[in-house]
Amino acid sequence: ALDVPRTLAWLAAVDAAVERREAELTALDAAIGDGDHGSNLRRGFTAVAAALAGPPPETVGAVLTKAGTVLISKVGGASGPLYGIALRAMGAALLTATAGPAELAAALAAGLDALRGLGGAQPGDKTIVDAYAPALDAFRQTADRGLAEAAGAAAAAAEEGARATVPLQARKGRASYLGPRSIGHQDPGATSTALLFAALAEAVR
Ligand code: ADP
Ligand code: MG
Ligand code: MG
Repeated sequence: ALDVPRTLAWLAAVDAAVERREAELTALDAAIGDGDHGSNLRRGFTAVAAALAGPPPETVGAVLTKAGTVLISKVGGASGPLYGIALRAMGAALLTATAGPAELAAALAAGLDALRGLGGAQPGDKTIVDAYAPALDAFRQTADRGLAEAAGAAAAAAEEGARATVPLQARKGRASYLGPRSIGHQDPGATSTALLFAALAEAVR
C-alpha cells in the first residue's frame, strides 16, 4: 500500500528526477514555449522537499495536499497551479495513513478531474492531460494486480503518451500560440508528467 514514507519517497524521487532532467525539460519548453518548465519545476519541487523536511504528516493525503499548496505558491508558470491542484485533489481523497491501489486510482482520477477543471484541456490538446489520462487508464486496468504493477503500467503509459504528443498541434497553453508550428515537438508538461509517474513507480517498487 501507499503509506506516508512511500509518499515522501515519491516526492523526493520527483525532486531528484527534475534536478537530473531540468535542462531537457527547459529545452523542450524553449522549442514551443518560454523555456522555463525545467526551472519552474525545479523551484517547485525543491520547495516541496523543504516543506516536507520536518516531522511527517499523519496521512498520505496531508503530504500530497501540502506538496500541492507549495507548488501553487512557488511556481509562476501554468504547470504549478495545474500540478498543485491535482496533488491537492489527490490529497483530499486520501485522508488515511495508507492507501491501496483502488484508493490511489480514485485519487489519481480526482487529481485529473481537478487539473482538467482548471485548465480545460481535452485529450489531444498537447498538454499534461495527454500523459496523465493514459497513465490513469493503465493504473485502473492493472490495479487488481497490486500497487507496484499498477504504478509501473501507469509510468509506461505516461511515457508513451508524452511521446505521442510530438505530432500533435497544441490547443492549450503557450504552445498553442504557435499554431501548426507546435507540431513536431514533444510537450514539456506531458514529459514531466511521465517523470512524475516514473517516480511513483520507483517509490512503490
Ligand atoms: P508556462 O507555459 O506558464 O511557462 P510551464 O512552462 O511550467 O508554464 O508549463 C508548460 C506546460 O504546461 C505545457 O507544456 C503543457 O503541458 C502544460 N499546460 C499548459 N496549459 C495547460 C492546460 N490548460 N491544461 C493542461 N496542461 C497545460
Ligand atoms: Mg514555460
Ligand atoms: Mg513561463
